[in-house]
Amino acid sequence: MYEGIRSPVIHTPKTQNEFNTTILRYPNAQIWAGGTYIMSQKEYYPSDSKDGIIDLGGMDEIKKITRNDRFVEIGSMVSASQLLYTGKLVLPEILQETLETLASQIVRRQITIGGSLCIPGVRLALSTTLAILDASAEFKFFQEGRVSTHWIPVARMYDKEGKLALGSERALLTRIRIGLDYGDFHSFDTVEDPIRNMDKCVIFAFQAKRTQNSLSKVQFCMNFPTKAFHMSKDIESKLSSLTLPIRPERINTISYELVAELRKQHSTITELQLERGRRMFESVLHELNSKALQT
Ligand SMILES: Cc1cc2nc3c(=O)[nH]c(=O)nc-3n(C[C@H](O)[C@H](O)[C@H](O)COP(=O)(O)OP(=O)(O)OC[C@H]3O[C@@H](n4cnc5c(N)ncnc54)[C@H](O)[C@@H]3O)c2cc1C
Repeated sequence: MYEGIRSPVIHTPKTQNEFNTTILRYPNAQIWAGGTYIMSQKEYYPSDSKDGIIDLGGMDEIKKITRNDRFVEIGSMVSASQLLYTGKLVLPEILQETLETLASQIVRRQITIGGSLCIPGVRLALSTTLAILDASAEFKFFQEGRVSTHWIPVARMYDKEGKLALGSERALLTRIRIGLDYGDFHSFDTVEDPIRNMDKCVIFAFQAKRTQNSLSKVQFCMNFPTKAFHMSKDIESKLSSLTLPIRPERINTISYELVAELRKQHSTITELQLERGRRMFESVLHELNSKALQT
């Protein structure tokens, strides 16, 4: 019955140096973090891969959370639940809200930060929020016997469809860094289950600073998991020059500008998703208005 299935070789490095030696020797090995995404794929069992699996579970140096007065650093093997539990006092609220939307408590124990950001073809919740928080990721790149280290902003790790775009070299995400100077208004929302209904789902993260009645440092990311990872400098800067409350007609015109931009740049987004995205965007601007009127 099990003829033809053989166990893959599992490498278990304990340190970064051991990982480096392993990946340089077995460049086609599958990097395994929590395994939740890998195991959800058809034919995940690496029977064809000659180089086996590299399990990151023993690498304690990438399981740490540290903080100083300017930023928090989170190791790539920190799990979503560990981050929620330990990071309660140090994390931006929008990041906590995002982590709470990931699957169930049990699955969150398994999902890692590195695994969430490095899924090759699909963008999900954590990438969306970390992109607007200006987080950066430290990568080790491996090629022709050499190891190099680069910091890459999370917002630039992906192409416009949201696919991981790090080039052809093997890469290991080791930690992320999030600055502590973020906006005082934020919103995170998801429509439809991103795993079961990926083609209908929209994930939206937004943050801004409010000083008296003016809006500044607006950043947002609208994510259509398999189709578009959209950030717009143009619309961000239009919003960043507005005074609160924003006139309803302006909210309406700017939301249609966003739709026009999405249509032009990403032809595969459906009308349903576009309308969902537009409503999510408008609703955040109305929420900003109502907060401004309360103060
Ligand atoms: C039932 C269920 C529901 C879920 N619901 C949601 C949801 O609602 N929203 C959401 O956003 N997510 C959700 N997820 C999580 C998401 O789909 C992924 O499964 C998860 O983020 C992957 O994390 P992991 O640590 O298990 O990664 P793995 O599956 O181990 O790896 C994922 C990919 O990243 C690569 N990789 C892992 N770590 C590194 C690293 N340090 N450097 C370089 N490459 C690396 C692996 O090689 C692989 O290609 C859900 C998952 C499950 C199982």
